[in-house]
Amino acid sequence: MQHGRCDCGGVSFDLEGELRDVYNCHCDRCRRVTGHHMAATAVHPDNLRFATDTTLRWYEPSPGVHYGFCGHCGSTLFWKADAESTKICIAAGSLDQPTGLRTTKAWWVAEAGDYHDRQAGVAEFEYED
Ligand SMILES: [Zn+2]
Repeated sequence: MQHGRCDCGGVSFDLEGELRDVYNCHCDRCRRVTGHHMAATAVHPDNLRFATDTTLRWYEPSPGVHYGFCGHCGSTLFWKADAESTKICIAAGSLDQPTGLRTTKAWWVAEAGDYHDRQAGVAEFEYED
């Protein structure tokens, strides 16, 4: 079981089962929404249980794509797509340490911030693989 929360605690949750490796998404949208890039693990939505979600808000920049964030403190928390109903992505930085996770993939690297240095050991993909 892994616990996560936003900075102010208005959103607090537990993740059950095995967590996916952390994947970085450098697409233009994730870069702007997160302020750098999305770094997220993922679980089946059934394995995400909220202790509290009173300040959870969703931003839908295009139909069927949703970013979850705290409406009070602004923490980036989740990403999900209606077309991928078997997973929800969880911002890795929201999890309590230690996570035991590794970053293994980077997507949309052509849209990465030009200040971003590549990470050794992270496989890069032009788009989402
Ligand atoms: Zn918050």
